[in-house]
Amino acid sequence: MACDGLIALDKSFSEFHLSLSGAQFDLASTIRALLCHLPLQVHRRHVKGHLDKHRPFSQLDWWEQRNVEVDSKAQSYRRLLESTGRLAASNPRFFHEPVSLFIDGVKSSKLDQAHIMEQVSLPALRAYWSSKDRLSKQSIREVDWLSLARAMKALPANLQRWTPKHISGMTGVGKCLAIWNRSAKSSCPRCSSCPVEDHLHVPHCSAPTAAAEWSKRHLAFWTWMQTQQTAPEIEAFLFEYLKTVRQPSLGVPTVRAWSCHPHLFQRAISSQATLGAQGLLEGLVSPNWRHLQALHFSYIGSKKSVNLWASRLIQQLIRMGHYMWKDRNRLAHSEDSSWYTARKREIDIGIREQFAMGLMDTPPHSQYLFRD
Ligand SMILES: [Zn+2]
Repeated sequence: MACDGLIALDKSFSEFHLSLSGAQFDLASTIRALLCHLPLQVHRRHVKGHLDKHRPFSQLDWWEQRNVEVDSKAQSYRRLLESTGRLAASNPRFFHEPVSLFIDGVKSSKLDQAHIMEQVSLPALRAYWSSKDRLSKQSIREVDWLSLARAMKALPANLQRWTPKHISGMTGVGKCLAIWNRSAKSSCPRCSSCPVEDHLHVPHCSAPTAAAEWSKRHLAFWTWMQTQQTAPEIEAFLFEYLKTVRQPSLGVPTVRAWSCHPHLFQRAISSQATLGAQGLLEGLVSPNWRHLQALHFSYIGSKKSVNLWASRLIQQLIRMGHYMWKDRNRLAHSEDSSWYTARKREIDIGIREQFAMGLMDTPPHSQYLFRD
């Protein structure tokens, strides 16, 4: 048996443990099973590939000629798949394949644990999101999950932990801190208009420091989009739509920016609108932005990676929300906090009441503290 892949040969003929998650596990395990059952002694041979590029076909030995022939057949098959719009070949169960895993009717060539986990947990998770009005069945399809996954992996560890906690509402805000007995108050420490502060209030807060922080981060996001050669129509829409996080009455903005691809631009706007401005701040973006940006990079001759652009765009949005939460924390632990002001008022009242009671119950050795 001959092959131009040395690693594939080693996998097929070795007696070492074959990893279930290794590439082409199905093929290597089938070859091993066949080698065990055949009443023949099979020898391995490594053949250098693509030798016809260096020598005439007639000067190649028998093995090298067969390698050129199977390579040619493989290339023809790949062209046939591409011409019919198929990205991957079908992968039927091999004769004598010891065990096979089919997901949605497609055989897996290896054990992909992440893929299996998705099959088990995603249907239940999607149903839960729908029941909680977090994401509808339609809006789940509008999220650029690939870019979001890439962004989450690229974020620092603290933001990887903070993001799911904050988005699910189980985070350091008045409502949760009161439930966890970490705070006597559930109100917003920045403004006096929110008796129960939840995670959605953090970017909405009407306090002057929250407004100033938002303006600063909103402008920084605009600057980032410009430095990354973002398509002007994407810049204009995302900047305007983020304003509705603090002013929901603004609704989905009508952006009068010119676009080379007006239909795709409109599709992206409709798609993003199903995810909402709060969803945008949480990094839920439509994949149509990535497609539109890819066309823009191509139009301006940029060699930037659109996948990296999409990942960094999401990171910027998540960081905006995190900065708003940090501003809330900074104020909560300062003397400008509404919590601090209320506590100070309570203590002042307590002191006055004690003075009004006089020295009657005060121990003799402490009475000197209260004399003029
Ligand atoms: Zn507030």
